[in-house]
Formats: sequence, structure tokens, C-alpha cells
Amino acid sequence: MINPLISLKKNRVRVSFFFRMIQMSHVSKIYPDQVSALSDITLEISSGEFVFVAGPNGSGKTTLLRILFGAERPSSGEVVVNGMNITERGFNKVYALRRTMGIIFQDVKLLKDRTVSENILFALEVTGYSRKEARHKASEVLSRVGLQERERNLILNLSAGEQQRLAIARALINAPPLLLADEPTGNLDAQMTMDVMGIFSSLHRNGMTVVFATRDADLVKRYPHRIIYLSEGRRMEVGKDGEVRTGE
Ligand code: ADP
Ligand code: MG
Repeated sequence: MINPLISLKKNRVRVSFFFRMIQMSHVSKIYPDQVSALSDITLEISSGEFVFVAGPNGSGKTTLLRILFGAERPSSGEVVVNGMNITERGFNKVYALRRTMGIIFQDVKLLKDRTVSENILFALEVTGYSRKEARHKASEVLSRVGLQERERNLILNLSAGEQQRLAIARALINAPPLLLADEPTGNLDAQMTMDVMGIFSSLHRNGMTVVFATRDADLVKRYPHRIIYLSEGRRMEVGKDGEVRTGE
């Protein structure tokens, strides 16, 4: 499971260990009304990887992410996240699972009538930090997304891009190794999209594993990251020429 990667950098030998952060084997999801949202999805994501999950509306992106954070159980197949087999019978560590990841939801879910720092402190309160520690942590994550000057602003007065950056900051409070983001640029204009992508890129450079769902076909082509395409719940292979084939 562990593959050492040895690289020479400025005469210093650097050994990094990559392991599988996510493994899905033959995962299908059929909702109670018989809607088939995912069909036989097999994929692997290594730690430190940035992967796009791309596909149009209704292709199963949100369902795939919700399975990874334990909000949905697959109808069949096996899922291992960060060493935890979450599809094992009797698996009951959903909270332990979620502490290893930051989640950015498709609908941002901020407390609109509160300030920027209150939104972060609220998320920290439930994790048992003292007030002083919580304040320190809040300014740390806010500065990582460039919102340190906005701590006292109400959410109502933030732009859509700033709100999305706050959602990213909130996802970072437990310093998770894995970030799951569901269409974080879905409602942003081109400039805000670039700002938000810059934050994701910098998190990725610092070693974060990022799974980024998007329906924006042009966005995914602008980055070197691996793309997993979904179409009607099936994984597709897309060639360099844009030709679509049924994948594994
Ligand atoms: P995407 O995020 O790519 O738009 P979703 O995972 O939200 O795709 O949806 C995949 C399919 O599953 C769609 O046909 C959608 O209508 C259906 N679906 C999603 N959530 C539910 C649900 N809770 N109950 C029933 N059907 C659902
Ligand atoms: Mg979705």
C-alpha cells in the first residue's frame, strides 16, 4: 500500500511516502426511488493528489462525495478512506472519519447573520478548544484564505467569492489531510474562480489531497490534475481529443 518516491532535489535526497487516501471498488448507489446515481465506480486517489470529479448536473458527483464523507451508504461495493473501510459491516466511526477531512458543501451553509470570525468560532466550539486557542486558530485559517482583514464583517456583506473562501477556511480548522469540495466555483465569476482556484492550488502544494467536483468542463482543462469524468453515474474515459469512451 505504501510506495516510497525518492527524488533528488538540490543535492538532498527527499523521500516521500504516498499511500492510498481513497479507494472505491465497484461502488453503485441506487436511491430508494430506484434512481441509479452511481454504477460500478472503481477508482483510487493517492495522498497528496489533486483530482477533479467532472460531469454535468445529475451525473453523480455529489453522491460520490457524500459517500466519501459517510452521508450516504453505497448500495454495493467497497470504500476505504484514509485507511478506514467505511463500507464494512458495523462501521460506526462516521465522526472519526469526518475529523480527517474538510468538507466544502455545494450549498455553502454559512450563518448569514453572523460575522466571518463567528462562523469559524462556531465550528471550533464543537471541537472543544478554549476561547483563546479558538481565536488563534480562527485567525490562522482566515489568513490562509486572505480573509484576515474581514473578521468582523457580516456574511451578508461578503461577495460570493469571499463566502466561498470562508467555507474553505472553515473546512481547514482541523488541519485535515483531505479536502472534499463540491462545486466550490459553481456560482463564481471568472475572477473569483481564479482566486478560489489559487487557494486550492496552494493547499495542494502544501500536501493536501483535494477532490474537487465540478461541472465546468473548461476549468478542468486548464489544470494538469487528473480528471475523473462521470456521465449518468458511470465513469467515462475521455481522450485528449475529447472523445468519450466508457471507462473501467
Ligand atoms: P450531481 O452532483 O453530479 O449533479 P447527484 O449526485 O446530485 O449529481 O445526482 C445524481 C442522480 O441521483 C440524479 O439523477 C439525482 O436526481 C439523483 N439523486 C441525488 N440525490 C438523491 C436523493 N437524495 N434521492 C433520490 N435521488 C437523488
Ligand atoms: Mg452536485
